[in-house]
Amino acid sequence: MKQFFTNTLLEWNKNENTRSMPWKGEKDPYRIWLSEIILQQTRVEQGWAYYEKFILNYPTVKELAAAPEEAVFRLWQGLGYYARCKNMLAAARQIVSAYHGHFPNTYETIQSLKGIGPYTAAAIASFAFNLPHAVLDGNVFRVLSRFFDIDTPIDSTAGKKQFAELAQELLPHGLSASYNQSIMDFGAVVCKHQQPACHTCPLAGKCKAFQLGLTGLLPVKAKKLVIRKRYFYYLVLQYKDQVFIRKRTESDIWQNLHEFILIEAPAPEDVTALQSTAAFKNIMKDIRYNTDAVSGTFKQQLTHQTIYSQFLMLSVSKKPEMPGYMAVPRNQLDHYAFPKTITDFLGNRELTLF
Ligand code: SF4
Repeated sequence: MKQFFTNTLLEWNKNENTRSMPWKGEKDPYRIWLSEIILQQTRVEQGWAYYEKFILNYPTVKELAAAPEEAVFRLWQGLGYYARCKNMLAAARQIVSAYHGHFPNTYETIQSLKGIGPYTAAAIASFAFNLPHAVLDGNVFRVLSRFFDIDTPIDSTAGKKQFAELAQELLPHGLSASYNQSIMDFGAVVCKHQQPACHTCPLAGKCKAFQLGLTGLLPVKAKKLVIRKRYFYYLVLQYKDQVFIRKRTESDIWQNLHEFILIEAPAPEDVTALQSTAAFKNIMKDIRYNTDAVSGTFKQQLTHQTIYSQFLMLSVSKKPEMPGYMAVPRNQLDHYAFPKTITDFLGNRELTLF
């Protein structure tokens, strides 16, 4: 059964796998790492362009390590999950300071880098150095749970251990790179999350989930995702050609990105009513302002949160004191990295009045 599974996947990879990606067959650990970090929680179609941008701007880990943080964040803008970007830069600097700019070449040292977990370490170790480490990502969990009919929750400690051991047992000697590539691609294009191609699948003859009609029930997850709703009201305060922004430094979403003056409300607010709240008065104090326009609601979906944002364009004729915020010429806003919801707003010419 296990031998059949491994051999069939390797055969499929050799003869039928047409999935193309710019980093496929890549042996440079820096490029593999970059692609893996970009692809965490990002679709391949979206990540592809970012990967190429990063390779073009920073062809080596030394160049990435030497780059100013703000420039790297701007290049990352739109990918979300900015902690990934922050960790990526920290790891690049770690490679330069601890390994003289040479990417480490053992599983343990790779995993010791900032932002690299067991999956990414196994991917780099196997793809770049052909080391015997099985990858375990969403695609692999899905294929294994279905073929072997395993209903242990994949997000439980027991499940992670069980799947990791099985994945490791299936790894063929000396063929880690091609086997890992096979199973990941197979999960992405054949044993898909929805509508797996069971009727043309080369594993179907021995696939337990297919035989028992369980494909729709596997893999099993223990925890249900709870999505929190948040309501952001941005005051786009303009004085002459300047607008007030600040960098988000709290350990919250969008850390290190910039934003306008924010009032977060616990529930949806009417914009007129918002202007008489204590939060608004606390910020605006006795500053005289005009309300020039109010945007519609922008929605940004994150993994655990939905952010609803609305923008109030206010103008003042006297430069106000705005502690914690800096006044930036509006034609220089593109020098700063913003969350997607704000770049969407800034891209909407009709609304911004800029
Ligand atoms: S038969 Fe269906 S469920 Fe089983 S491995 Fe193939 S695609 Fe996946």
